[in-house]
Amino acid sequence: MSTGALVDTFGRTATDLRVSLTDRCNLRCSYCMPAEGLDWLPTEQTLTDDEVIRLIRIGVEQLGIEEVRFTGGEPLVRRGLVDIVRRTKELTPSPETSLTTNALGLTRTAAALAEAGLDRVNVSLDTIRREHFHEITRRDRLDDVVSGLEAAQAAGLGPVKVNAVLLRGINDDQGPELLRWCLERGYQLRFIEQMPLDAQHGWRRDTMITADEILASLEAEFELTPAEEPRGSAPAELFAVDGGPATVGVIASVTRPFCGDCDRVRLTADGQVRNCLFAREESDLRVALRGGASDDEIAERWRAAMITKRPGHGIDDVSFLQPTRPMSAIGG
Ligand code: SAM
Ligand code: SF4
Repeated sequence: MSTGALVDTFGRTATDLRVSLTDRCNLRCSYCMPAEGLDWLPTEQTLTDDEVIRLIRIGVEQLGIEEVRFTGGEPLVRRGLVDIVRRTKELTPSPETSLTTNALGLTRTAAALAEAGLDRVNVSLDTIRREHFHEITRRDRLDDVVSGLEAAQAAGLGPVKVNAVLLRGINDDQGPELLRWCLERGYQLRFIEQMPLDAQHGWRRDTMITADEILASLEAEFELTPAEEPRGSAPAELFAVDGGPATVGVIASVTRPFCGDCDRVRLTADGQVRNCLFAREESDLRVALRGGASDDEIAERWRAAMITKRPGHGIDDVSFLQPTRPMSAIGG
């Protein structure tokens, strides 16, 4: 068995694997996909549960993967999710596991996911106002998200994190309200700057809400101080709220990029390795898997995929090109 980490040419080592389990979703968040949805991947191109587990096993056993985050699309719509989590946790060494989800249906599966060994969940929730939730996600499902969050907390999938995107003219004045709501319930809120990853290519640098704006609006109502714990490779910059211990995070991918500390690598639902959210190339592991490649050969192909990882996403470069795949098909 070959071993050797996923190192890129700038000396960064990927230990955090983001696995997209489907590109399908039951919401239509406007910053992610159009109202009519997208042309979903054909079933035959989607990795089977066994194929997903084989790639995760190779990552863990041969490539130094320590953490596995399941995402999508909406990972809860993948039928085999609980089993995939269980089989991931049974690997040696057993990786940390987490789920990024919109929480629709989490009331039904939270306990089973926890029992299967899932460590944590991140739930996406941009507003606690019904009309704005409907406007942003194009579905009237706020109550399901709220009960999904409660179920995750009750099942011990904590600390439960909430991810929020603020959109100018819709919910950009709701940061403090959302933070108060999360603090009352013991959820850790993190704001994510909107990125140019929507399928409709509607993102604009001059209308996105920046980290500076988010922090200024929070500071009008809360005292924020930089958190003491070292940030390491974490995307979120953390701040203690009103002296702590509660914190709020800002993931400022656009205005305060953290590419130099990146430890992430992504696997799409159709078996492509992406060394960056913004990568323009992919490495096809599905073809290798289905063509009879050995574990060593797949591991070698995966290592080679890291060579083209660029030093940064380059959103501010004049030559920046948005990746062809939207966020929902990459796995956020
Ligand atoms: N469906 C799940 C969810 O919404 O949590 C998982 C996939 S979703 C693509 C992962 C995360 O990406 C969510 O927190 C979502 O808010 C975020 N996201 C989607 N499009 C984005 C964009 N254009 N800019 C910033 N974050 C985005
Ligand atoms: Fe679905 Fe998540 Fe995209 Fe919203 S952000 S449309 S929940 S994949």
